[in-house]
Amino acid sequence: MITDVVIAGGGPNGLMLACELSLAGVRPLVLERLPEPSQEPKANGLLGQVVKMLDHRGLHERLSGSPEPPRPNSAYFMFGAMGLDLSLLADSPVYALPVPQRRIVQVLEDRAIELGVEIRRGHEVVGLSQDDDAVAVDITSPDGEYHLRARYLIGADGAHSATRKLSGIGFPGVTYDRMTVRSAHATVPADWVDPANGALNVPGYGPVIPFLPHRTEQGGFSYAPMPGHPPLVTTTEWDQPATDAAMSLEELRASIRRVLGVDVPLGPPNGEGPHALRRLTGGNTRVAERFAHGRVFLIGDAAHVYAATGGGPGLNLGLQDAINLGWKLAAEIRGSAPPGLLSTYETERRSAAHRMVLNAQAQSALIAPGSDVTGLREVFSELLRDPNTVRRLAELTAGADVRYDMSEDVAEDIGEDVGENMGGPKPHPLIGRFAPNLELHTPTGPVRLAELTRTARPLLLDLTEGASLARTPALRHDQVDIVTAHPQPHAPTALLLRPDCYVAWASASPQPDSAEMESLRAALQRWFGPM
Ligand SMILES: Cc1cc2nc3c(=O)[nH]c(=O)nc-3n(C[C@H](O)[C@H](O)[C@H](O)COP(=O)(O)OP(=O)(O)OC[C@H]3O[C@@H](n4cnc5c(N)ncnc54)[C@H](O)[C@@H]3O)c2cc1C
Repeated sequence: MITDVVIAGGGPNGLMLACELSLAGVRPLVLERLPEPSQEPKANGLLGQVVKMLDHRGLHERLSGSPEPPRPNSAYFMFGAMGLDLSLLADSPVYALPVPQRRIVQVLEDRAIELGVEIRRGHEVVGLSQDDDAVAVDITSPDGEYHLRARYLIGADGAHSATRKLSGIGFPGVTYDRMTVRSAHATVPADWVDPANGALNVPGYGPVIPFLPHRTEQGGFSYAPMPGHPPLVTTTEWDQPATDAAMSLEELRASIRRVLGVDVPLGPPNGEGPHALRRLTGGNTRVAERFAHGRVFLIGDAAHVYAATGGGPGLNLGLQDAINLGWKLAAEIRGSAPPGLLSTYETERRSAAHRMVLNAQAQSALIAPGSDVTGLREVFSELLRDPNTVRRLAELTAGADVRYDMSEDVAEDIGEDVGENMGGPKPHPLIGRFAPNLELHTPTGPVRLAELTRTARPLLLDLTEGASLARTPALRHDQVDIVTAHPQPHAPTALLLRPDCYVAWASASPQPDSAEMESLRAALQRWFGPM
């Protein structure tokens, strides 16, 4: 017996991949080392493009508990503990969903089970070898050791990934061993909290805006009152003496005194736990040398990690790795993948991961101690009065500037407007980017584009006059759904979306001409195989 796909690791990213494969008709087997879901407090929420992505799978509703679509944050955000004034932007790219990681895992696990995925808890991948046809996987379980052969093995087994190590894939990067981050859920004096804006008014220091890290020349401080939870209070310091002592609220108070120069009387948290009380020394920003080796693929923290910088890039990237890989791997297994499709997982996601390294390292530099950094920050804060700078940094942090190289015409540099290419027609600026927010009027009624992509199938959206694309038999592809809707001002007239909701082709012409029809046919075949 050979299993199509074994996923090592039932964390958020492994479970997301399991859902995506199942939607595409492939049933993976998830092996999770822990007998029960981890209660360790990790992510407090999701940030960036992934929030929109989850809406495109109907998961935003489950996670937020509300049928309302995601709305961007249009007030402020941060970069290197400096405020980004998002009100300067006509359309903010920053989306956030405050929900703890264990809830994310629960929702994804429920969804995977609903889709028929088998999850074996207490089963750990401990060995692997591969030949041309399969990966042989060694597993320990409560009933003893056993072996499986799988066509593909996915390492979704976190930062210390056994899959990565057993495959001999290096994990180069930077270790910040001077940095100590202390965090705790705690109570703060109720009368310090400004009822108007939620700021924490610290006597002797001043107002601390919630969720916005504050930097002083001694370190960093942040106050994050998550809805329905006690506030999470965090400090960052450098060159702290080593200690084996258990972390305590008193240690955090002493750290706050050093960072802010005043005392903040923290109390134990109220309400149901588990509550965070931790000290993390050091941090890593690393990207795996390869995301794929033969029949083994890496996703999420197994492929890349980022030292804490604010803005939580981990799940924004990891969940999108899973969504990028899922449909490609399923097409390969079904035998419908065009040549080279699977290898675009590595090229596309590696460039997104490297972009996030740039983000993490730039932010680390800006929060470091010292008066020279204070000088750098003053220059930066002057630049941040320019809306274009705010937009670029907001897009970088949210991962909203990712543009996959979908054709040879697409400009190389991510984040730049597409320039005039030599000779050929100018490619539509949406090509390679995540699907735009569109409210559509279809023959069956109004619908958001995000609601049309929940099946995870390729989609050709036809907004041309008279639905001309849908009526052209030569454009029919059995892998691709076609939806028609009324033309709209200021919207593209047609879009081809891959299952991961990135735009593979787009048009702005009321009636695409024969050259555009030809480029659409080419895009259909490039991504979804022969017609
Ligand atoms: C304190 C903290 C705060 C964070 N805050 C944020 C945040 O606010 N936003 C954000 O986006 N990210 C945040 N992150 C990062 C985020 O938690 C990670 O990016 C995320 O957990 C990665 O998910 P994953 O599925 O790749 O790996 P993991 O969550 O590490 O899951 C891997 C799974 O694999 C299992 N496993 C390991 N080895 C094996 C094996 N050999 N066989 C079988 N199973 C195995 C593990 O038990 C685990 O369940 C934070 C991380 C920490 C530590």
